Amino acid sequence: MPRLALKIDVDTERGTRDGILPLAELCRRESVPALFLFSLGPDRMGRSILRVFQPGFLKKVLRTRVASNYGLSTLLNGTLKPAPHLGRRFGDLMRRVRDLGFETGIHCYDHYRWQNRVRAMSLEDTRREFQMAAAEYQRVFGEPARAAGAPGWQCTPHSLQVYDEHGLDFASDTRGRAPFQPTLAGRAFRTPQVPTTLPTLDELLGLPGVTPAGLPDYFLRRLATGGDHLMTLHAELEGLAYLGFLRDFIPRARQAGVEFRSPRDLLKSAQPLPVCEIEYAELEGRGGTLAVQKK
Ligand SMILES: [Zn+2]
Repeated sequence: MPRLALKIDVDTERGTRDGILPLAELCRRESVPALFLFSLGPDRMGRSILRVFQPGFLKKVLRTRVASNYGLSTLLNGTLKPAPHLGRRFGDLMRRVRDLGFETGIHCYDHYRWQNRVRAMSLEDTRREFQMAAAEYQRVFGEPARAAGAPGWQCTPHSLQVYDEHGLDFASDTRGRAPFQPTLAGRAFRTPQVPTTLPTLDELLGLPGVTPAGLPDYFLRRLATGGDHLMTLHAELEGLAYLGFLRDFIPRARQAGVEFRSPRDLLKSAQPLPVCEIEYAELEGRGGTLAVQKK
């Protein structure tokens, strides 16, 4: 029986303000667990929105009315407008997601900085950056975060060390096959990785010939081969213009025998975990390199 866990990355003001509650309410109605990972500091995504989603996807959305759904204001945050602080402004919405019964965790403090700079950061800078997210998470939720998943699948030996220092239960920074105990640059780390196993919607929609209507079939085909999977969604996409994809997909997946579980459940049933190396690799439909579970 295939099993599927959902991880929801929340990157921007728009996604936090308008995307997370519709997603949480849909998942709750359908009794689907999900892990919500929040960006907790300033939304400076105006600087990097073109890098978050892959270029083919953006070309496609700019040709359609999705561009207006996406929100011009996001493109201005941190560029022409001051960067709004997401934890301070939307802490109540984040808590509502938790109170609806969902697990929550840290995506980042400053998405722009992590996605574009973490690979060049010193241990001290990485520690400071994650500490700011952890402190804001603690302030918003009144308890320490137990899980994290980095922007853009960007992790380093420093960031994995910092996760270990925070004693997280698990992290999801990688693309891969199944939960594992990571090594990177010859070092072993304690915090297990629960990798994303499926492509993201923006990666798929950037490919020629792929349409939104064809997405549920694509994922059902991938899941039909069985095993455990983790799908990463974005509050900015599946919570807004592409909420219809999930509304269509979830009941069809259930009907096809897919069991929805939490990332934590996948981790529990994968014990004992194999030790796997993380490498940086290119992935179809995404710029730059990302952290991948080595084959
Ligand atoms: Zn993100």
